[in-house]
Amino acid sequence: MGARAKELYGSMVFNEHVMKERLPSATFKSIKATIDEGKPLNLELANVVASVMKDWAIEKGATHYTHWFQPLTGITSEKHDSFIAPLGDGTAIMSFSGKELIQGEPDASSFPSGGLRATCEARGYTAWDPTSFAFVKDGTLCIPTAFCSYTGEALDKKTPLLRSMKAISQEACKVLRLFGKNVEQVTATVGPEQEYFLIRKEDYARREDLIITGRTLFGHSAAKGQELEEHYFGTLRPQVAAFMKELDEELWKLGIPAKTEHNEVAPAQHELAPIFDAANKAIDYNLLTMEYMKRIADRHGFVCLQHEKPFDGINGSGKHDNWSLSAGGENLLDPGDTPMDNLQFLTFLTAVIKAVDEYQDLLRAMVATPGNDHRLGANEAPPAIVSIFVGDELGAILDAIVGGNTYEAHDQSQIDLGVDVLPVFPKDTTDRNRTSPFAFTGNKFEFRMPGSSINLADVNTVLNTAVAKVLKDFSAEMEGQADFTAAAAKWIKHTIRDHQRILFNGDGYSAEWEIEAARRGLSNYKTAVDALPHMLDAKNIALMSEMNVLTPVEMQSRCEVELEHYSKVINIEALTALGMARRSLIPAAIRFMGDVAEAATRKKALSAHISTRTEEQMLQYISRDTDMMNDACDKLEMLMRGVERTNGTYERADYYCHTILPAMKELREAADHCEIIVAKDYWPIPNYSEILFYI
Ligand code: ADP
Ligand code: MG
Repeated sequence: MGARAKELYGSMVFNEHVMKERLPSATFKSIKATIDEGKPLNLELANVVASVMKDWAIEKGATHYTHWFQPLTGITSEKHDSFIAPLGDGTAIMSFSGKELIQGEPDASSFPSGGLRATCEARGYTAWDPTSFAFVKDGTLCIPTAFCSYTGEALDKKTPLLRSMKAISQEACKVLRLFGKNVEQVTATVGPEQEYFLIRKEDYARREDLIITGRTLFGHSAAKGQELEEHYFGTLRPQVAAFMKELDEELWKLGIPAKTEHNEVAPAQHELAPIFDAANKAIDYNLLTMEYMKRIADRHGFVCLQHEKPFDGINGSGKHDNWSLSAGGENLLDPGDTPMDNLQFLTFLTAVIKAVDEYQDLLRAMVATPGNDHRLGANEAPPAIVSIFVGDELGAILDAIVGGNTYEAHDQSQIDLGVDVLPVFPKDTTDRNRTSPFAFTGNKFEFRMPGSSINLADVNTVLNTAVAKVLKDFSAEMEGQADFTAAAAKWIKHTIRDHQRILFNGDGYSAEWEIEAARRGLSNYKTAVDALPHMLDAKNIALMSEMNVLTPVEMQSRCEVELEHYSKVINIEALTALGMARRSLIPAAIRFMGDVAEAATRKKALSAHISTRTEEQMLQYISRDTDMMNDACDKLEMLMRGVERTNGTYERADYYCHTILPAMKELREAADHCEIIVAKDYWPIPNYSEILFYI
């Protein structure tokens, strides 16, 4: 980082450094205890912090403050209040109280709640998450908060995440105590890699589908796609480089550790990866990153597309969730150097394997969105089947543990897998399997199923909770065991044996894997609508409520919100496709046909001997395509009327998924075929080549 970057970094954040400098030392100590140990914050303390925070924010140009929260829509929300407090004598002061800092009362009636909250008691409240620092954005002091109803139900995505972090911290600490380690807190860490597309504003402005739905509903694939593999890590276009530089700087100001920026596989696709952080902070940062990407793209003549599948036929965008557990600086998924370290590593590794196997359907449901349906299983992103890749080396070790065999390392050294002589692991796990949805990458897991547009809170809430539950059961099983080492080794052995079906090192895209996975009894929910109802399976409800993360009612509401969201999205897409086809694509084809017919007529008028074969043939082709478009529109319209006849949220979503989407596809096929024969200057929307291969 250059000197300037160093100066910028965190300059707009009310971080620990600022607090230490500005708060009275007793207040700082208390707030630090709140941050580090989750001790409650009292109003007196909050008043002091609020006043100092306000002065700091005003220095940074703030006039307003907002409780910044993450309703179930997944995006962030803010309601701005100014610091102004009129004194009644025509003057005003800037005021911000402790109460305003720790609690807000946004009118919650227009956020989705999945039936959790009757409209008559529409008020929810927001509560400060002091473990995620406040920051100034656009002249507003933003306070990261959780959002709950007055009866205490979580109306947001942050609350359950914080609850799950507490659960995993408690259970992991208990396990570590069995290993003779006294730690107060274990933190779930997350490093989200964000993929996105940058396209030119002028192309975007001419595509109603991109504007309204975030993805192209029409568009024949370009002559060139990503087959030359030249874009990945390729040289950045100068405008893109300028965008990335400004983005990095803006993120650094907010204390967001943006680290790597590079081109991705598809043309016009890029990725940003930050340095990992505690899960709740990392997710706040990711949401801010997404917001800033859009905003900064605009300043560089671009539009940033964050949809999972903006373009058919080329890779979509994901958001890899790199996940691990950290105990006071020790990464619990880092294989150690001594046998005892390795026993601990294997315990946590095994816990993750068991958790992912037992709750594979719940994890799948957490990434189920209409956009992600175009990715999962579409021969590019991971398949819709959850499985774990551990690499050949670690895989062989796990096999040997289950089989009770001696493990022969790749360097030919013998490793005895006896109870008290566990292997020293080879550190270098360079083999990477890009087709795996859940891959162990040496010292962390990388969950690759999440789509680019989602809030990762849900995924990490489930992951933390499921692993916490397995650790809880492990501790219970170890209770009263005379020989902990032997008991733990035995647990590892039988647990891996029982959950071996989830381990898969092969090609996740292959047809054979689908068959093999079915044989193993792994779930394979191809669409969001197939996956989402499993949130309500008894074992999943039991998990979330036993670990005090989500009550059955909260689970129900979340499932409801996601299914409703699914239907709304497809409804918007279908209406947009219909509108575009009827009002611009079909008329464009007719206009072109008119001109071709006119040209042919003129030729004939000039001489009956001139051939009009080309014109006639073109007219035939385009006429056929246009009829097909028109028929497809009629059919889609007719089917859309059927939506009203569906009963309940699930049935409606299912109808959109299995009836409306195929009809949209038919319309698209006819239009895309028409696009490649109608003269380019007649076609009203920019084509894939223009959009993706700009200079
Ligand atoms: P890739 O090859 O997939 O780009 P990297 O090693 O660059 O992988 O890391 C990708 C992401 O994983 C980064 O955001 C990084 O900060 C994050 N990461 C690394 N270690 C951890 C960890 N212990 N916990 C969570 N995330 C981590
Ligand atoms: Mg990655």
